[in-house]
Amino acid sequence: MQETNVINFRPDAFIPYGRQSIDENDINAVIEVLQSNWLTSGPKISEFEAAVADYAGAQEAVAVSSGTAALHAAIYALNISVNDEVILPPITFAATANAIIYQGGTPVLADVSPDTLLIDPAQVEKRITDKTKAIIGVDYSGHPCDYDALRAIAEKYGLYLIADSCHAIGALYKDQHISRLADLTVLSFHPVKHITTGEGGMVLTNIDRLVERMRRFRNHGIDVDASQRQTNGSWHYQITDTGFNYRLTDIQCALGLSQMKKLPVFLARRRQIAGQYDRSLLRIKGIVPLTVKSDVRHAYHLYVIRVQNGLSRRQMFQHLREAGIGVNVHYIPIHHHPYYQKTLGYQKGDFPVADTAYEEIISLPIFPDMTDGEVETVLKTINMFTRTQGGEINDTVRQ
Ligand SMILES: *Cc1c(COP(=O)(O)O)cnc(C)c1O
Repeated sequence: MQETNVINFRPDAFIPYGRQSIDENDINAVIEVLQSNWLTSGPKISEFEAAVADYAGAQEAVAVSSGTAALHAAIYALNISVNDEVILPPITFAATANAIIYQGGTPVLADVSPDTLLIDPAQVEKRITDKTKAIIGVDYSGHPCDYDALRAIAEKYGLYLIADSCHAIGALYKDQHISRLADLTVLSFHPVKHITTGEGGMVLTNIDRLVERMRRFRNHGIDVDASQRQTNGSWHYQITDTGFNYRLTDIQCALGLSQMKKLPVFLARRRQIAGQYDRSLLRIKGIVPLTVKSDVRHAYHLYVIRVQNGLSRRQMFQHLREAGIGVNVHYIPIHHHPYYQKTLGYQKGDFPVADTAYEEIISLPIFPDMTDGEVETVLKTINMFTRTQGGEINDTVRQ
């Protein structure tokens, strides 16, 4: 007999920084597909696309095999290629830059704002040349970028705006869902993200003409998909474009559909944990959470603190890890990696705000199944560390 109450069992006391939540409904949804006729290119794909599009307020959605594939599809859809430049922040996962490179384009970095670590619109404007084609805003940690400012720049210079919202499904900017803020919005369904399909990604858009282009792109550049061929009883297809096999399977989409039902609960729990961290960390000098603007609803993929005031980030990181707390650092800035230094000519120090932030940031554990006790453990361990470092309680704060 299978034990069903241990789905989320973690083999040791280690608290990871992020983790999937899987329940019996998820498992049953996957089993159902395994017993059906369609393992891939079947009905679950458009069902999942519709569920996410509805939720995020987008007209169209294209499901693909990863967030990275979604970024690639977005770059491809906009015809970005050799001699084109795309502006992005240095504080992001490497995939944001790689997607541009896949199509022969050149990633151009623009520094972030010190309070949020989101791309700084003033820096974006300085990087625009006559080769610039698009801007990618990364909703780092789940906080939407300053889309009004980015949109104004995009319109002024005739550029496309892409949102790398892999951290931000469920976030709001001025009461609007993230999918309404950019021309193309990219999501990831990796297990650490808000909802998971194992691996998976999606592009949301309201621009019709880009949709078919991305659907072909995910399927070898073929102009009809397998289910259409089956209903047409036809062997005929045409390759009309460059394409990849970036399909998401029905197995994965069934999991995604089941996960989507729980997204509001997942988001609420993430926000609750963030609130607990906010309230407690306010009292510790030298631990500074990133700023949350008053006109956004944060989605808290990550809870990022900056370690300042003479406290050592390295020592604090080690202390937490040794205590079984899976803290992490998001991210090593793009311009610190040898590959981009070699191919794009960047070096450490080129983006002072990102460089300073990178010395100070730590991502604390945050995921829907994290217990109150685990949150307490993280906070106690931080408290203990700051005390041994001669840290003080921030007594300017009283609540
Ligand atoms: C996770 C992530 C990606 C890539 O998504 P995958 O699904 O892992 O390919 C891209 N950009 C950002 C900001 C991410 O966090």
